[in-house]
Formats: sequence, C-alpha cells, structure tokens
Amino acid sequence: MTPPRTALAEVLARSRYLLFDFDGPICGIFSGLPAPTIAAHLRDLVTAEGVKITGVAATSGDPFDVLRYAATISPDLTQTVADGLRAVELRAVEVADATPHARQVIEAAHNDGRAIAAVSNNSRQAVARYLTTAGLAPLFTAIIGRTEPDPRLLKPDPHLIGQAVKELSAAPADCVLIGDSLSDIEAAHNAGTPSIGYANKPGKLERFTTVGADAVITDMAELIPHLTRRQPATD
Ligand SMILES: [Mg+2]
Repeated sequence: MTPPRTALAEVLARSRYLLFDFDGPICGIFSGLPAPTIAAHLRDLVTAEGVKITGVAATSGDPFDVLRYAATISPDLTQTVADGLRAVELRAVEVADATPHARQVIEAAHNDGRAIAAVSNNSRQAVARYLTTAGLAPLFTAIIGRTEPDPRLLKPDPHLIGQAVKELSAAPADCVLIGDSLSDIEAAHNAGTPSIGYANKPGKLERFTTVGADAVITDMAELIPHLTRRQPATD
C-alpha cells in the first residue's frame, strides 16, 4: 500500500486545479449559527405548511436532512426550505470561523499558478459572500454552490464538480477535490476526479481511506509543502 505522504505528493503533483469543498476545508459555516438550530428552523418552515416530518429529518441536526425530506413532499416545499436555508447560510457565513491554515493553502496554491474553485452544497451566494469578505474571492476562478433547490443535484452527485470542471475548462482527472465528508469523496469518484479527505474529526481518516480517497490529511497545512512545484528552487 502506498504510504499516505507519498500519495498526497503524487495526487497534488498531477493536479493543476484545486477544488475546495467549502464547509470544512475553508470555514466552519455553522460554527457561529449551529447546524442543529438551523435544522430546527427549517423544520418549523415545513410544519408551518401543515406537513408532518417523519424519519431521520424529524430529529436530525443536519439542515440538509430537512431539505432532503422536503424534496420527498413537493417542489414547492423544497423551494421554501431551500430559500430558508439560503437565508440562514447568508447570516452564518458572517460569523463563521475560518479553518486553520485554509487561507495559507489557498494563497500557496494561487502563487503556485494553480486554478482554484469552491465546490459546495451550501448556497453559492453564501460561499461567494464569505470568500469576498475574507478577501479570497479574487483567488478563485470558479465559485460553485447550490443554486437550485433540488438536493439530488448536491454532492455526492457529480453535478457540482462537473460545473466546476467546465468553468475551469479542465479535465476531471487533472483536478483534485479536497473535502471533509464522505459525500465529497463519493462525488469526486463519481466525477472521475481524484480526492483528498480532510479528516477534521476523529474516525474520518479510516472512513475516507475505506471509500477510496486518494490521500487523507488531518490539517490543511499538510497541503502547503506540495504546492510549490512552479516556484523557482531559489525562491
Ligand atoms: Mg464539507
């Protein structure tokens, strides 16, 4: 089996385009407005329409579980919940904590001449707002996020990665997606794109390896030494 560090060096050496999942690798979007609070708010929107929530969405702390439930009911309810989620995401990014070393990674990749994209299940507007406020937006060639209510278009579906690949005029195999969820690794696999799992919580490392991430990191800073291929050796 290839040692993880060699795998990381190899996957970054052959990736001209870096695709960053947003929530996790760039910031913790729900660090200031906790996800369970948002999920409860979205449940209120559903029940206000006279719809009873059953299954995992009835108690889940993940807002996306409520969106997925709404999608099983009707397009109108899906739109209502997606709009509600976008509204809170736009507030959440204003109080979100940056991920340690994310800025340094993005700047190192940019300085190395790589094209950078965000590929997020969060609202595109919210991702753009965060990156603009952080002064990072000019370093991104593409900002891809949720623009339609249908949750089936979100990762692990390859749809969003496909959008990024198109905007970058890249080949899927020349990109690498850095994500902190199994759905990121699955989406990358479905798109024909290599992936790096960011194991920011205990237990993720083993799961990323199991689902076939090309490499796994536990700190975004681990990427930085491998993002210097185009700088002069004397620099
Ligand atoms: Mg994530």
